[in-house]
Amino acid sequence: MNARIEAFARDEAGNESKVGFIDNVFEKPFKSSRIVLDDKFINRVVPEILEHSPELKLAPPAEGSPEMLQAFLKINGELRTINADQIIAIAHKTVAAKLWDGPFVQLGNSQVEARFADHRTYFYNGKEVDRQVHLGFDLAVTEHVPVHAANSGVIVNARWLGIYGNCIIIDHGMGVQSLYGHLMSFDVNVGDKVTRGQQIGRTDSTGLAGGDHLHFTQLVGGRMVNPVEWWDPHWIADRIERKLREAR
Ligand SMILES: [Zn+2]
Repeated sequence: MNARIEAFARDEAGNESKVGFIDNVFEKPFKSSRIVLDDKFINRVVPEILEHSPELKLAPPAEGSPEMLQAFLKINGELRTINADQIIAIAHKTVAAKLWDGPFVQLGNSQVEARFADHRTYFYNGKEVDRQVHLGFDLAVTEHVPVHAANSGVIVNARWLGIYGNCIIIDHGMGVQSLYGHLMSFDVNVGDKVTRGQQIGRTDSTGLAGGDHLHFTQLVGGRMVNPVEWWDPHWIADRIERKLREAR
């Protein structure tokens, strides 16, 4: 794998510039996991998500009907894609200033239940029915634990967002945002300024979640990226803050 990665920019006067970056791409294996779907889970999550997702234009099917699994698959595929586009649209609300400082903070004392880019295969009645890639971290503590802002910024989403259920997105400026999914409640509103460590809500299992946990992901330009680096003080100091200083 030696694909050249380039950043391209064009200003309003038509000036163009292109720079290459990341010279070495290292292959990394992805973890794969099996998710076994049962009727209890599907009957719980599908009607609630459909009720909050008029964009799918799908009425809740009867419990136990074959349409219930079909609705689940539509949520897991089509709604997941719609939500990714909605998250990109929210990224346009980013401010030019850098509102954050230092490393982002992972949910305290949490157990990692799923990592970024885990390849998930879904089974129903012993048969493979779907495959998806999990673009975030699933962090579990106990039920309804407080969720804190991973860094300083402004709330740009505090409402239901499809598969992510009750979902907060914080804009940290310069296209950097963080997403908190499956929440029970919101302690903040859109437009509120938050500081790192401030409580913004509590965990739950709203949306497409098997149990109480926080789905956390880092966003850059509305694209989901691995939060591991953003949690790492050395990576932040060397790869972001040093480069921003040099560019000034
Ligand atoms: Zn998740």
